[in-house]
Amino acid sequence: MDVAGSVGSPPIENLVIVGSGPAGYTAAIYAARANLNPLLVTGFQRGGIPGGQLMTTTHVENFPGFPDGVMGPKLMDLMKAQAIRWGTHLLEADADVIDLSQRPFQLEVDGTTIKTHALIIATGASANRLGLPQEQRFWSRGISACAICDGATPQFRNEKLAVVGGGDSACEEAMYLTKYGSHVHLLVRSNRLRASAAMADRVQANPQISVHWNTEVVDASGDDWLNSLQLRDRDTKQEEELMVRGLFYAIGHTPNTDLVVNQLDCDAKGYLKTNPGRPETSIEGVFAAGDVADAEWRQGITAAGSGCQAALLAERWLSGNDLATLMKRESVEPAQTDAAPPTQISSDQNFNPDGLWQKGSYALRKLYHDSSRPLLVVYTSPSCGPCHVLKPQLKRVLKELGGQAQGVEIDIEANQEIAEQAGVNGTPTVQLFQAKNLIHQWKGVKQRSVFKAAIEDLLNAST
Ligand SMILES: Cc1cc2nc3c(=O)[nH]c(=O)nc-3n(C[C@H](O)[C@H](O)[C@H](O)COP(=O)(O)OP(=O)(O)OC[C@H]3O[C@@H](n4cnc5c(N)ncnc54)[C@H](O)[C@@H]3O)c2cc1C
Repeated sequence: MDVAGSVGSPPIENLVIVGSGPAGYTAAIYAARANLNPLLVTGFQRGGIPGGQLMTTTHVENFPGFPDGVMGPKLMDLMKAQAIRWGTHLLEADADVIDLSQRPFQLEVDGTTIKTHALIIATGASANRLGLPQEQRFWSRGISACAICDGATPQFRNEKLAVVGGGDSACEEAMYLTKYGSHVHLLVRSNRLRASAAMADRVQANPQISVHWNTEVVDASGDDWLNSLQLRDRDTKQEEELMVRGLFYAIGHTPNTDLVVNQLDCDAKGYLKTNPGRPETSIEGVFAAGDVADAEWRQGITAAGSGCQAALLAERWLSGNDLATLMKRESVEPAQTDAAPPTQISSDQNFNPDGLWQKGSYALRKLYHDSSRPLLVVYTSPSCGPCHVLKPQLKRVLKELGGQAQGVEIDIEANQEIAEQAGVNGTPTVQLFQAKNLIHQWKGVKQRSVFKAAIEDLLNAST
């Protein structure tokens, strides 16, 4: 389990926050500044990724304070840095069990039991799937739930693509995919778009996008990659085949309440019920923040606002019940955050045969051919939020292994041919090589320990 922040947590936490979207990080900033020494369980795979839904988008144009907009992953990095700066402890793992039947409350996180007096649930929401008969077969082989992550994949270049959905996300994804595909079909169940008027106008005015109204997807087919979709007109029931190489889901989200749905009051869709406009749930000391309790607004700023409310109320509740153990700061003003400089692309000028982490095709070629050490190759794309989450994890593994293994990052947008040759069909993809042999391949975000164990196995086998 990864623990960031200062050490010395009490055996019973004052406050645990579950979820690291705008709601979770804002709650953490407020609680940390109140000297509550909060513990934040970031989540990893169970209900999204660390940083939450904004890690899967590009430009966020409506979060106050950024007049020129900000990239979603960058915004979440800033919130994280602010939470850590004020003393939040981070556990980069999923909560697997939340037990509210006893006090202190108990959580199981990565095999460890955590006890806490107060709890903020900020687990957000997860992308829905259609559940097509052939969905599993073509998952990551043409079907994706994240256009922003996977759109740059070589298999989608200059191909016909489809997006299913009619809201802001669907419109944003359709617009985004016109960068890569030859044409984008937007498949809408009803006869209107639910997106904002400006967004809907933009989509309908784009000659690279065709909107199919009253249309549902019945199934997908192809061979080793998606080739076509079976569509049905919801009025006439007539079916037609649409030839596309990519299908992207943008059909809404389901609140991540599976761990508490039988313990806290929830509405029919599973959203946590709270006192109107307030963060109290049906159990005293348990507070809800963000999309997990908000079927209506579901915005970064509303999530952040409710995270603030939840932390202020948790602080009030803890002190009212004499349960808070306040931390003592060594200095009133915590140290400034420091950002790591971006990795430069390697060339014959700056390539380092012993470098732990390098970037680009030159480094890949050199290390693949010349290095006897295990080599991690991570395929990323510039707008891929999950890549952003994974890279520091991999760098940390390599650092812990003290130079016994090396890493190279390949941007699939800049290195399309390499991605194609490597059979990469989504980002992030990680491949582990030794002596030019592909030993393992992982798709998506995995725990740090998975990569470390695979490299250690290789190292042990060669001693
Ligand atoms: C494509 C897209 C574009 C968007 N664009 C905008 C925009 O431009 N502006 C805007 O304001 N809003 C936008 N939104 C909406 C915004 O992202 C959400 O409203 C906001 O992220 C909700 O924040 P949250 O903290 O409640 O939850 P989320 O962001 O969903 O975060 C939930 C967190 O909980 C964690 N989690 C889940 N289950 C567990 C568990 N069991 N254990 C531990 N952790 C767990 C997840 O890993 C995640 O870190 C967009 C959403 C999407 C999908």
